[in-house]
Amino acid sequence: MNIILLGAPGAGKGTQAAKLVAEYDIAHISTGDILRAAVKAQTPLGIEAQSFMDKGELVPDSVVIGLVRERLQEKDTARGFILDGFPRTTTQAVALASVLNELGRNIDAVVAVDVDPEVIVARLNTRRLCRMCGHIGSASDTSCQVCNGEMYQRDDDKPETVRNRLEVYAKQTAPLIDYYRGADLLIEVDGEQPVEQVFAEISKALK
Ligand code: AMP
Repeated sequence: MNIILLGAPGAGKGTQAAKLVAEYDIAHISTGDILRAAVKAQTPLGIEAQSFMDKGELVPDSVVIGLVRERLQEKDTARGFILDGFPRTTTQAVALASVLNELGRNIDAVVAVDVDPEVIVARLNTRRLCRMCGHIGSASDTSCQVCNGEMYQRDDDKPETVRNRLEVYAKQTAPLIDYYRGADLLIEVDGEQPVEQVFAEISKALK
């Protein structure tokens, strides 16, 4: 099963991706996670990406396309993959189609998780991540519910950056919903429902 998860930042893509990975035993490819790891390690890629990420801007297409091209050739994608946070521009979507074509693979479904922007601003203000395992929790968690690690707030989840990320999403990423609807791959779900309900709808549509 090869899936793309589309949705604004904070729509719940990461949470649903973790559940789908467990359900289908497929690889989770989050370009945001890959870039954050590179920033933390201060690799040349991380240093280049950081200035864009801090402002809530997109990292240049050529950089992320190269990352995904390499990642899709790793062994753990053989059973399938979930792309979480990629593609984010039409250029990335077109490049993805050509990479998949080269690799003799295809996309089975594109899941678009829909959440109102005002709900997103409130959600991201209280979103916290575990420094150890990346689990997504909330401001009320004193430690990670999975591994007891320390929880922190992403710099780009602070309200001033979130507004910019939402504008970038509306302008550059939202057009992909029509792009994939046109390709007859789109599954749309209401992301304002409880997590389990969203997951149940996605699972049903994927069957
Ligand atoms: P995310 O964790 O998906 O919200 O991504 C965090 C940040 O990483 C974004 O605000 C971008 O700066 C960068 N990023 C992640 N994925 C992409 C992508 N596909 N294209 C460009 N930039 C990306």
